[in-house]
Amino acid sequence: MSDDAVEALFESDPFPRRRGGRFVAALRACASRQARRFPAIRALYGREGFRPDALRSESSVLDIPFLYVSVFKERDLPPARPFRPALTLTSSGTGGQKSRIVLDAGSLRRVKASAERVYAALGMVDKGTAANYLCMTYDPRQARDLGTAFTDELLTSFTARARVHYAIRRPPGGGPFRFDLEATLRALREMAATGLPLRVLGFPAHVLFTLRAWRERGWPDLRLGRGSWVMTGGGWKSHAGDAIPKPEFRRLVSSWLGIPAGNIRDLYGLVEHGIPYVECRRGRMHVPDYARVVVRDPVTLRPLPYGRKGLLHLITPYLSSFPSFSVLASDWGLKRPRCACGLPGETLELLGRAGTSPAKGCAITAAELLKR
Ligand SMILES: [Zn+2]
Repeated sequence: MSDDAVEALFESDPFPRRRGGRFVAALRACASRQARRFPAIRALYGREGFRPDALRSESSVLDIPFLYVSVFKERDLPPARPFRPALTLTSSGTGGQKSRIVLDAGSLRRVKASAERVYAALGMVDKGTAANYLCMTYDPRQARDLGTAFTDELLTSFTARARVHYAIRRPPGGGPFRFDLEATLRALREMAATGLPLRVLGFPAHVLFTLRAWRERGWPDLRLGRGSWVMTGGGWKSHAGDAIPKPEFRRLVSSWLGIPAGNIRDLYGLVEHGIPYVECRRGRMHVPDYARVVVRDPVTLRPLPYGRKGLLHLITPYLSSFPSFSVLASDWGLKRPRCACGLPGETLELLGRAGTSPAKGCAITAAELLKR
């Protein structure tokens, strides 16, 4: 019965006009299942005096206890009894700590469904058309369990796939991953010559790095047209010094590839929280009904109103196999109640990474590859 509530949410419209009941029912089912399965969650609820059954209204969602995202990098929180994992994902920090996320078949199916429905609502799913993919990320054949590889496999499934090129690979014969600029430039030239739409995926630092290398060679700008997209994610991290404002990034990449600036979209998501927060054509990240984002004061941890900067508390009921369904991220942001693009619901603005956490994300490691 309770599982039905979770399934019903993930089968429904990601951006409905009215929100509330469906999400709250799914979260209630998820929270009680998590408390049964994970001793750490049960202990957390006991300490906070929280009962999943108290989740009865939208405002009650604010009361759900959370764990800091760093907890998942520092320790394993095993379930009470064994269950069958379908996929294990890790964040890719080589020097830092890793999160290791276990997805069972249901969680995996729901996280994939949520991504597909979100991107479809934003007009980015076109299964009838073949597109080339330039992924400035880890080759999933060599990095099976990395969160970014999982994300790319997902993001390349929204059209028919023509050619897919991965820029971060191990050299033949082994060795550490590296960003292969020459192969990336070559792939881009060849893909542009096919006349098919192109989708560029990856970290913004790599996109900018490739753009600059292209222009340094004196090669002409491309004209890929309105069927092509750039989908970035992961932020600038250790390349903060190279970070440029989003409007400038959009202008540069738009004129380089010859695509509308509105086709350049950024994405926010965590390995621990796989719901995608994707920019609309106006450049605002939309919060789908599959999740709630609470912006919290960094000192008191109280919820903050719209427009105020705080730490992001991310909540989603898709996870039945890992206890990060209510997690305080180490990212700053703020929320707005609506967007001029017409898609209903709240939007999110990212305002950087909090603190000097020793835990490195995928993007920080990938960005370091540019220094080699
Ligand atoms: Zn919008």
